[in-house]
Amino acid sequence: MLNFDDEISTPATAINLDAATAKRVNASDKRVINGTTDVNQLVPFKHKWAWEKYLAQCANHWMPQEVNMQRDIELWKSPNGLTDDERRLVKRNLGFFVTADSLAANNIVLGTYRQITSPECRQFLLRQAFDEAIHTHAYQYIVESLGLDEGEVFNAYNEVASIRDKDEFLIPFINILTDPSFKTGTLETDQQLLRSIIVFACIMEGLFFYVGFVQILALGRQNKMTGAAEQYQYILRDESMHCNFGIDLINTIKMENPQLWTEEFKAEIYGLFKRGVELEYAYAEDTMPRGVLGLNASQFKEYLRFIANRRLQQIGLEPMFPGVTNPFPWMSEMIDLKKEKNFFETRVTEYQTGGALSWD
Ligand code: FE
Repeated sequence: MLNFDDEISTPATAINLDAATAKRVNASDKRVINGTTDVNQLVPFKHKWAWEKYLAQCANHWMPQEVNMQRDIELWKSPNGLTDDERRLVKRNLGFFVTADSLAANNIVLGTYRQITSPECRQFLLRQAFDEAIHTHAYQYIVESLGLDEGEVFNAYNEVASIRDKDEFLIPFINILTDPSFKTGTLETDQQLLRSIIVFACIMEGLFFYVGFVQILALGRQNKMTGAAEQYQYILRDESMHCNFGIDLINTIKMENPQLWTEEFKAEIYGLFKRGVELEYAYAEDTMPRGVLGLNASQFKEYLRFIANRRLQQIGLEPMFPGVTNPFPWMSEMIDLKKEKNFFETRVTEYQTGGALSWD
């Protein structure tokens, strides 16, 4: 048994000061991938954009239980509150999202994080991982509030073809990174990482979430399911930050490793976007077989092409669908949500910081 009265003395090993100071990090040596600098030394910054996004995302903090779900519960329980098509839309919508953010979180924590050697980028990924947990919590809170069949909603990604197909497209790109033996450092593995980051940021977070966001926000605009819509609005704001971080990450990897950006690689990325748009469109058709809330699947064809063009341009590629426009211009107001007041005016949101705590 330990006796804490005993003095523990460990002789200090001598430090070779020259060798130790040589481990100080020079910002110019930092790399997003395959870096050799100490990942525990956050500063001096090189990838300042990542630190700024980390700070901005912390300022966006919110928690699901802050949103009152009473009106949603009353509407959902009232027999004529929503049409059958609206109920199908809500259930299929949640059916995708309840597991999507777990996939996203696993991809970050078990995959991408290990390969990123910039501590400021890692700092953002840590915040992002927590955001994904909050999103899963938000969907769970909606499912519980409405009294939905949990087994049906949480297992939808195995039971509903349009959801399963989207996830089956994503999972190989996640599995590559979560394989414990995966390691960057060759042209092949560096391209595998970059490809997975593009799929994750631009196609999953940047495209596969958008039919679902438009649907629930469109309900909110008609004064239906306003609690759920408010939560989706916060989630959309978080996800647009995740997507923008991912795009900066992609562009920085490209800049630091131009040899990865070959013609063959670019052609492959176009192919993935094409498939992503098809899968998300199939999901739109399945969730809205008849047109609902003034929305119909064909508007989504235009919208998804519009978003795909935008993502391609953001990573330095030419748009692949010429002449398309945005059929939902109101979505940009939703993304630019101001913290003080939310769009549906159901409540004023100001996250309480430590200043409000009492220690008495
Ligand atoms: Fe995300």
